[in-house]
Amino acid sequence: MKAAQIEDRARMMSRLLVERYYRELDAPEFSDRKVVYLFTSGGIGEFFRTFNFRIVLPEINAVHCARAKISREMIRYGEALGHINEMCTYVKSDLGLMVGPPKGNAPFGKIPPPDLVVINHCGCSTYIKWGEALAREFNCPVQIIDVPFLSEDRPTESEHKYVKGQIEELIPVCEEVSGTRFDPDRLQDVLKLTEEAISLWLKLLQYGKKRPSPFDSYFEGVVYMAPMTIWRGTSEAVEYYELLIEQMEQRLAASYSPVGEERFRLVFEGSPPWPTFTRFKTMFERWGAVAVASTYIRVVCACEGLTWGPDNPMDYLADLAAQSFYNWNHLKKINFIENLAKDYEVDGIVAHSVRSCRPISIGQLDLRKYFATEAGIPTLFLDSDIADPRFFSSSQIRKRVNTFFEALDKRRKRAAEVKKA
Ligand code: SF4
Repeated sequence: MKAAQIEDRARMMSRLLVERYYRELDAPEFSDRKVVYLFTSGGIGEFFRTFNFRIVLPEINAVHCARAKISREMIRYGEALGHINEMCTYVKSDLGLMVGPPKGNAPFGKIPPPDLVVINHCGCSTYIKWGEALAREFNCPVQIIDVPFLSEDRPTESEHKYVKGQIEELIPVCEEVSGTRFDPDRLQDVLKLTEEAISLWLKLLQYGKKRPSPFDSYFEGVVYMAPMTIWRGTSEAVEYYELLIEQMEQRLAASYSPVGEERFRLVFEGSPPWPTFTRFKTMFERWGAVAVASTYIRVVCACEGLTWGPDNPMDYLADLAAQSFYNWNHLKKINFIENLAKDYEVDGIVAHSVRSCRPISIGQLDLRKYFATEAGIPTLFLDSDIADPRFFSSSQIRKRVNTFFEALDKRRKRAAEVKKA
């Protein structure tokens, strides 16, 4: 089978699942189901699925605005509503879409207003203001699940109890808003599907250790993570990741590399510049560079360290909520990235800093300093934005990327000469 055919199947199915997700949000046959808004980091859509909610993820709307090249316009609407320049551009883009003139009518679908907003406050304080603004605008109840940053490697017993207790307190609220009674057996069934999808997902991430890596964990990984984000706890997600694993095996057998010939192996940290994603990707592709591992795709599921399983549904939910990558402490993140660099045998690390996102970008300069000086791993630091194309300077970023690879190339040649001598 040709490599191009292998690639198309996963991409196409992810796109179809995204299209179906948006279609169903506004489908007449689902109009009797209430709508809950949730956030992605530490999001526990499975819980809300058991109440038959239609689940809207405002960040995913912002991503699709950027991919559809309308984020600049939406951000302008958001700013006209009084949201300041420095504010997270996802927030301005989503509020511009929902509250501004489009009133939820996006090119990728019509977004229904919320009946309930749940702010899973996990790694990002901006979620609180964003969720409150949406609830205020649509005059609906708002609830917060306050997820503390992990003080240790795993949630401590008190952190775990604190999160679990808040999820339990949500049961009567969801029953009242949705008109559906809580069904613990159904929750367990849904979570079993999540567990299956997670185990396939973790298997997928391991393929980056192969040489050549059959997939790019950043530029392709963001496509592959979509079903994990919007189809959590469904057979659709499980089937998708089964297909993906099958394709990885086919790619391996064909010695396929997404860049043709793999020359450089990288770890990527940080979210992508969505409006200029293809331009950004090309800058790395032309050097034969592959992200064999990345941190961003662990935002929805940093599932390596889960303690609980679906047999203890509320504990499992609390674990999923607390263990998102952006909820980790700084030391845990640094150790994790350093281990990725070793285990995946990379040539360097790329950190993409997002101007309007403090929670993700904080500490990235320290990270670069540590890796470049103490750990001896070449590290490239770039900055632009997730949603606002004005912050992406192509010439500046291209220049930095080229300089980085030229230095890696020289370093490799020097090492080869030393070895020969
Ligand atoms: S501030 Fe960062 S983490 Fe928070 S919503 Fe915006 S982009 Fe996401």
